[in-house]
Amino acid sequence: MKTTVAFLGLGAMGYPMACNLQKAGFTTLVWNRTFDKASAHATECGTSAADLKNAAAAEIIFSCLPTSSEVAEVVEKLLPNLEAGGVWVDCTSGDPAQSRQIAARLAGEGVDFLDAPVSGGTNGAQKGSLTIMVGGSKESFERALPALRALGKKIVHVGPVGAGHALKAVNNTLLAVNLWAAGEGLAALVKQGVDPRLALEVINASSGRSNASENLIPERVVTRAWPNTFKLGLLTKDVGIGMKVLDGADLAAPLLRLTYEVYQIAKREIGSDADHAEALKLIERWAGAEIS
Ligand code: NDP
Repeated sequence: MKTTVAFLGLGAMGYPMACNLQKAGFTTLVWNRTFDKASAHATECGTSAADLKNAAAAEIIFSCLPTSSEVAEVVEKLLPNLEAGGVWVDCTSGDPAQSRQIAARLAGEGVDFLDAPVSGGTNGAQKGSLTIMVGGSKESFERALPALRALGKKIVHVGPVGAGHALKAVNNTLLAVNLWAAGEGLAALVKQGVDPRLALEVINASSGRSNASENLIPERVVTRAWPNTFKLGLLTKDVGIGMKVLDGADLAAPLLRLTYEVYQIAKREIGSDADHAEALKLIERWAGAEIS
């Protein structure tokens, strides 16, 4: 018999992820706060739009919401209808401490919780090629693995509940560092008369390269295309979680803390709903020059 899964949250990431579960042969129930999106998903991907009560009956429940607070809200709504023996797989880039609380609430109903945040952007979500870092019991990880394989290529069990979210927060803090640092360096080069395309060609064949220099800046900033796939507010939220991870480790980490401050300013000046690469518009404003 086919495993029934539910997917809660059909945003930029959840929408294509839920589609891939259906394509891989799982009977997929979808729920979204704005329900029209769930109906559109059913038409486009062959899933079934469900209310929360029906979604609660699935053997594996996925969530992909902005933060752990929305996940906790939805968990409370589902609690009365959950069935013991299920697994809840949270693909939100969430908060480790909140996830441990959510896991305890679910354990009371006999449901096991895995934090399984993802990396790879909307492109990776569409292609089913995400990197997935999973915290929780090894047994539930093994149960969820066939479904996770429909979503990602690199799937790693990294520790107990919260470990996946901690790792994701550190990863995204590094993304924030690299993006901002490359923006500052390129703005300086532009002001020295260097074409940023040539600068990137050299950096990307040298030791200063990163995902920001190889993909984000050439595709979004230099072209002025500014596609909106990952909100600046969400990246800033991840860097904030990264700060809690540093605090938990009692680590000074001045560079990462400065990055948090920088992104707070960028979010305020550029706006939460802008794409994360648009943070570089602030560097351009300060420099009085475009990286293009
Ligand atoms: P979006 O903003 O595109 O989607 C957010 C989703 O959450 C929507 O389905 C929205 O519903 C729903 N939602 C918002 N508030 C509530 C609420 N109070 N109750 C119930 N549902 C709610 O976000 P993304 O898909 O981009 O991101 C989701 C998660 O994935 C985030 O944690 C993000 O950090 C992470 N992520 C994002 C990546 C990206 O490239 N975009 C990459 C990797 C991780 P509605 O349609 O009604 O607004």
